[in-house]
Amino acid sequence: MTRVLIVEDEIRIARLVRDYLHQAGFDVLEAVDGPSALSLARVEKPDMIVLDLGLPGRDGFDVTRELRATSSVPIIMLTARSDETDRIVGLELGADDYITKPFSPKELVARIRAVLRRADATLGGGEVLRAGPLEIDLPKRRVTVDDHEIDLTVSEFDLLLVLARQPGRIYTRAQLLDAVRGVSFESYERSVDAHIKNLRRKIEPDPRRPEYVLTVYGVGYKFSDA
Ligand code: CA
Repeated sequence: MTRVLIVEDEIRIARLVRDYLHQAGFDVLEAVDGPSALSLARVEKPDMIVLDLGLPGRDGFDVTRELRATSSVPIIMLTARSDETDRIVGLELGADDYITKPFSPKELVARIRAVLRRADATLGGGEVLRAGPLEIDLPKRRVTVDDHEIDLTVSEFDLLLVLARQPGRIYTRAQLLDAVRGVSFESYERSVDAHIKNLRRKIEPDPRRPEYVLTVYGVGYKFSDA
């Protein structure tokens, strides 16, 4: 059974989410603060984490940062509607998606399913994409640079794949957002920049002078066809 860890200090919201996820057939773990979230994540290895940003003590940013040091478990952040900066920072730290409060539990379940679907998606028949020392093994969802395995989040992997499948093709941020999200909810294009920034940090020899994922100014991004 798919296990989701909910990290939320507001009991009312935590209960609502827990009940809804149970009904939707998920196994649910709960934490009310950062330290217990981190230890639960380490010990129980959930398939997905729904993480509130506003937590007492160590906040959701801290938790994301620490999780990402060792794990690419899918993370969906819960954020306040007003705060765009929070969302960008959260995505830059490696969250896969966010949902703004107040949200409908139904939408949260749809988002969780969309991210899990992407994480499990079987891709192509034995296809391996190569660009110099960069290798993308589709069936294994595995990326290596010079044979070193790179640990990418679901979103980073999917963005890289979309771009690398058609080198030289220019994608707008909106197109990339559509491509990495199974379901199209609100469109928030700067989130693509956050994921691209992380991706570059991981795969590019010099992230300030990208060789693989190139910026097309005023338009979006493309994979190098040089
Ligand atoms: Ca909170």
